[in-house]
Formats: sequence, C-alpha cells, structure tokens
Amino acid sequence: MNKLQILVVEDDAHVRNLITTTLKAHKYKYIIAVNGEEAVRQASTYNPDVVLLDLGLPDMDGVEVIEKIRTWSNMPIIVISARSEDADKIEALDKGADDYLTKPFSVEELLARLRVTGRRLALMQANSGKNESIFTNGSLKIDYAAGCAFLSEEELHLTPIEYKLLCLMSQNVGKVLTHTFITQKVWGSTWDNDVASLRVFMATLRKKLESAPDSPQYIQTHIGVGYRMMKVE
Ligand code: CA
Repeated sequence: MNKLQILVVEDDAHVRNLITTTLKAHKYKYIIAVNGEEAVRQASTYNPDVVLLDLGLPDMDGVEVIEKIRTWSNMPIIVISARSEDADKIEALDKGADDYLTKPFSVEELLARLRVTGRRLALMQANSGKNESIFTNGSLKIDYAAGCAFLSEEELHLTPIEYKLLCLMSQNVGKVLTHTFITQKVWGSTWDNDVASLRVFMATLRKKLESAPDSPQYIQTHIGVGYRMMKVE
C-alpha cells in the first residue's frame, strides 16, 4: 500500500524535512523539487503517484504548477497552503488540485491525506476497464445507465438535483470539490453560486444517504471550501 511515489514540492527546508522524514519513516518513496519549474520537470520525468505541492513557491505560483501538470496528467495533487492563503487554496482546488493541507499540519494529518489519496488511486485503478455504468462504494450503488441509486439494495428516492449531486460526488471519490465547482457542474454557469442553496440540497441528500447524518460516512464537509465523497470500505 505504501508503495506510492510522492513528489514533494516545497521551498522551505524545515517543512520539507518534516515531510520527507515522515515519508521515509512510513516507507513512501519520494522525490523533491524546491521550486515550480523543477516541480513541473520532475512531474513529467518521474510521473509520480501523488504531488504534495506548496502554493507559495519562489519562482511561480503553485496554481500555475497545477495548470501545467493538468495539461497532461490527472495525478492527484495535494496542495499545502498557509492559513492566510485560503482563497489560493480554493483557487488551487478549482484548477484541479485534489486535496489540501493547511500549515501548520501534523504528521498524522499528512499521513491521513496520503491514505485517502491512496484509496482514491486504488479505486481509480480498480474501476478502469470495468463496466463504468455501475458505481459501488460501501453499501452505495449507482446505476448511471438506469439513472438510479441504491443503498444496501434499497432504491434511494432522490430528486433530480440530489441525484445529480450524488453522481458528481461519486465520479470524484476522494477528491475535495469546491462550492463553485459543484454549483457550476450541477446548475451550469448561469447559476449564481448560491452556496446556501447547495447546502440545503446537500442536507436533504445526506438525510437519505447517511445512516447517521451527524457523523457522515459518505460525504464529508469542508467548511468554507466544499465537499468530498469518501471511499467507504
Ligand atoms: Ca513556500
């Protein structure tokens, strides 16, 4: 499981050492880049499984690194931002980053993010080549072709919007989706980004999906950022 190769992009030697020491202790393989240009080069040369990307780099904005990598690869990118860079973090997610860590972060948080990403990669590999019209995650099953969803073989009675939301989340398991991304995908670009309405639809979807809405198993809330569907074992 820990065979992932990780590209660590961080110009701050102290943070970089914390990350690489942790990776080494947990048997992850890694390569290093200390600026944006090097990051893009290493990503194309080594095709790593995951990129850990600091957003504040000396030569270019981390978001630019994401844009460049996304021209040829969907490799998971976890951005590392300082607390003051909240808007940057959301922009990075909108540009195709998968997840984020906020400085200062603990070793446990870093490892947890890598486990989530590892599960996402495993699911992506398991689903490639399979019949993609059926999605399963824990007790949840979605039959995209038939347009219906089931929980423990019981059909879920979803409104069209709830179903669209659920499909979008399922197609991005393990990835944090921003409010903007979700509202644009579900309602189209004419929608005025009404986060309050999204929250209402998400709450009704969860009531149908989660056995304990207070400790959701499937859909995680990222306050001020968006939502993520978790891979359920
Ligand atoms: Ca930095």
